[in-house]
Amino acid sequence: MTIPKLLVLGTGGTIAGAARSATGKSYGAGEVAIESILADIAKLGLEVELEPRTIARIGSQDIGWKEWDALHAAIADAQSDDSITGVIVTHGTDTAEETAYLLDLTLAAGKPVVLVGAMRPADAVGADGMRNFANAVRVASDADAGERGVMVVMGDTVFAASDVRKAATSNVDAFRGFPRGPIARVTPSSLDWFAPAHRVNTDARYPWPETLPRVAILTAGAGMDEKPVEALLGIGCKGIVIAGMGQGNAPRTVLGALEAAVQSGVPVVRSARVDEGMVDRNVEVDDDARGFVAARALGPAKARILLMVLIASGITDAASIQAAFDRP
Ligand code: GLU
Repeated sequence: MTIPKLLVLGTGGTIAGAARSATGKSYGAGEVAIESILADIAKLGLEVELEPRTIARIGSQDIGWKEWDALHAAIADAQSDDSITGVIVTHGTDTAEETAYLLDLTLAAGKPVVLVGAMRPADAVGADGMRNFANAVRVASDADAGERGVMVVMGDTVFAASDVRKAATSNVDAFRGFPRGPIARVTPSSLDWFAPAHRVNTDARYPWPETLPRVAILTAGAGMDEKPVEALLGIGCKGIVIAGMGQGNAPRTVLGALEAAVQSGVPVVRSARVDEGMVDRNVEVDDDARGFVAARALGPAKARILLMVLIASGITDAASIQAAFDRP
């Protein structure tokens, strides 16, 4: 049997976090080098060859274009390298959904790409990083994992990039999926897929952009007025995602300002500040009349990623943006 070789791209996060106390609360994300994490993994005796590369050593709240560009290039290279079976990206959990979805939209399917993180730093009592990593190895080595797009492995659970979100600030069981829940259960010695592969023979859906436009998320609140929308237009936002109440609602005055934004050529996507659920067209807001796009199953963070990629690809009219959100 050939031993799988996995490229491991380190970006930081709590999986590489050091608290210097097994019981303390505060810690620094990204302090542990990827080589040192892999030295600990080697003690588990997994049948795998791991090739480490450092992309960054940061908390994922600081991730952005520079790290995404480096990650995309490294993964695209690994996809065309016959010696590499799959890719694992160690990542902070705060923005794992954004990086996973951005890569999923812009990479071809074919080889497993797995983001993995941890909720507890490596030196905390009950640290979850080693098990999560061992699970990620299991997924990234699996012959049936390549055509499922980018995935996030947390706990003993596998999520697809378009579904996953961080739903709890500190529980170990912090991730949820919508509209699909987990697509597989995994342990270091078992992997059970719940459905057939969903990205069979698919090319990258969008080209890797030269840069990403400024797109802001604006959370709607009761009693809010139009000024925050005007401020976003004033700083040159190229798109706005409203994290609206309920099914993507916002006060009348805010909707009016957003409609003016659309008329000035700035696309507006209505998503929900509610934790989970669909935002459909023309429920309480007349999207047809106002020129808005409904985010459908995507929450605000992933809606922003898709809107940035669409605008970067020159897709700016509401009907074409809506078509992309209808099939995320
Ligand atoms: N805020 C840090 C990050 O996202 C730590 C959170 C975590 O990794 O769980 O990188």
